[in-house]
Amino acid sequence: MRKRRTRNPRVLAFIEEYGHRVKDPRKLIVRIAEDTIKSVDFKSPPPPFRPEDFQDFFGIKEIAEKDNLSADAMLDACGNGYVVHVRKGLSRGRRSFSIFHEMAHTYFVKATKRNKPYLTKREVERARVTYSEEERLCDIAATELLMPRKAFAAIIQDAKLSWHFIISIAEAYEASLEATVKRIGELYEGSVFLIARWILVDRVYYQTVLACSKELMFMSGRWKEKAHRPLDAVRNAFDTCTNQEEHASIPVRGKIVDFKVQTMYSKQKESDGVAYTLVTPVEGESEEIGSI
Ligand SMILES: [Zn+2]
Repeated sequence: MRKRRTRNPRVLAFIEEYGHRVKDPRKLIVRIAEDTIKSVDFKSPPPPFRPEDFQDFFGIKEIAEKDNLSADAMLDACGNGYVVHVRKGLSRGRRSFSIFHEMAHTYFVKATKRNKPYLTKREVERARVTYSEEERLCDIAATELLMPRKAFAAIIQDAKLSWHFIISIAEAYEASLEATVKRIGELYEGSVFLIARWILVDRVYYQTVLACSKELMFMSGRWKEKAHRPLDAVRNAFDTCTNQEEHASIPVRGKIVDFKVQTMYSKQKESDGVAYTLVTPVEGESEEIGSI
């Protein structure tokens, strides 16, 4: 991957403050988040990792629920600390992620104050809005604080993926299903898998691959083309509003492989429905695919 030089003064201030030898801000923020977790006194042993336990560390005086907020959450200065405003009615997982994201902005605020004190308020605000790099870094930090990689990877490492298992992890970490699935995509090194989201709107299926192992990476592009012609299990799930399971033979690099497709249907307010499919090889096939 080609290295992209950062030009965002707030990110530069962050690297100056915490960087020492690590110059890649994405690696750096993972390390800083890990250090943060080490310095927090948890009321009860995690998981879940709750934003309230991190309030003192980040100098957050209050987490206040608010109606009609333009974003999921917002960080405001308050004396020598901060207030996080969070939109009322968010699901628990989305609420925690959004608050952690706002908390992560304080790394950049503090670093900018210390290392770039000559920047005007306007320049600081422009840097935050113009470049989305800080936003992406705060998302990485929020993921690390909600589902720290070492502990999370240890739990999923030897597990066999199933919806039952994925939901139990999402519940233990109080994370949203999709955030959990994406984290599994980053850290799972077990067998071959692919997890996709299907949405049905006005009788048209829209499909997005949320996570997949490297062996099936090539399929995500092809599956996009196939989005309008979903697997039977997906079609049946939408027809009956229930979970479905089926086997599907899918050619993987010139070889037909038997996969198990576990579909989980979930009724959503905003659309006709959402179904998630978990595709894993039928017993005994995973090693074979890996070696193709
Ligand atoms: Zn943000």
